[in-house]
Amino acid sequence: MHVHATTTEARSILTRTSGYLTTVASHSLQPYRGCSFGQSLCGVGCYVQHNRFLTGSAPWGSFVVAKTNAAALYRADNERERRWAQARHGEFSIFMSSATDPFLPHEKTFGVSRSILQEMAHAPPDLLILQTHTHLIMDCADLITQLASRCRLRVHISVESDRERFAGFPAPASSVEKRLCAAQKLKKLGVRTVITVAPLLPICEPEKFFQRLSEVADAVVLDHFIGGDGSKNGTRTKKTMLPTLMASIDPTSPSLLYLDRMVEIANRFLPGRVGVGIDGFAGRLTT
Ligand code: SF4
Repeated sequence: MHVHATTTEARSILTRTSGYLTTVASHSLQPYRGCSFGQSLCGVGCYVQHNRFLTGSAPWGSFVVAKTNAAALYRADNERERRWAQARHGEFSIFMSSATDPFLPHEKTFGVSRSILQEMAHAPPDLLILQTHTHLIMDCADLITQLASRCRLRVHISVESDRERFAGFPAPASSVEKRLCAAQKLKKLGVRTVITVAPLLPICEPEKFFQRLSEVADAVVLDHFIGGDGSKNGTRTKKTMLPTLMASIDPTSPSLLYLDRMVEIANRFLPGRVGVGIDGFAGRLTT
């Protein structure tokens, strides 16, 4: 599908969090509206596609709107939002991003995320969480390492399974191997790196997978679509093809028992370095 890419001047860039994200960060930040990864594997169950206000009923993955004034907005608003966040949440923390990917291929053209990270280097938040589905995050490794010395910073790289392909479904935006290599490089650079197995998809060789994750990342977070998609019992995801895909590979995987089994294996290989669900995204790990 052709991705329609346009630009806009946004009215604000730091959004005070609501709902489940409040326990993760005081603010979310979306450099883009829309996401060109919507037509890849992660887009199949992506909860953002159900937000009509955001999509305007356009097919998810068909458009990307770059917020070209994002860095200027951050510069103008960060002190006011910092004061609000520190009074309300105890710290100014940013989750980037919850409704797009900050490191889309379009970043090469528009450089919106890069410009925001540059601006943050002058006025860093207390905590920055960078959430991505792609190895293209490495294009900003210089700024990320610089920022990591100025604030608490975590990189979350989503790797939903050890399988490179799921028959009949789109390819991931970035191969498993490339994402794991990116994690390893960032970890070596001293950046706290977390693999988010979210949503958890059927894993072919769990022992081997979590052993590898223990080497390439500081921690791992597992999140099942039931309880993890912001709706009761995963009803939002159940409207998509994702549960069918999961059941066709492992009939037990659409149930929470599968999550329990994978958490038990992950704990064996990463003791004290495993988080589950929203607690994991917030950095609260099991002990
Ligand atoms: S990268 Fe994130 S926002 Fe974009 S389609 Fe995938 S899950 Fe949705």
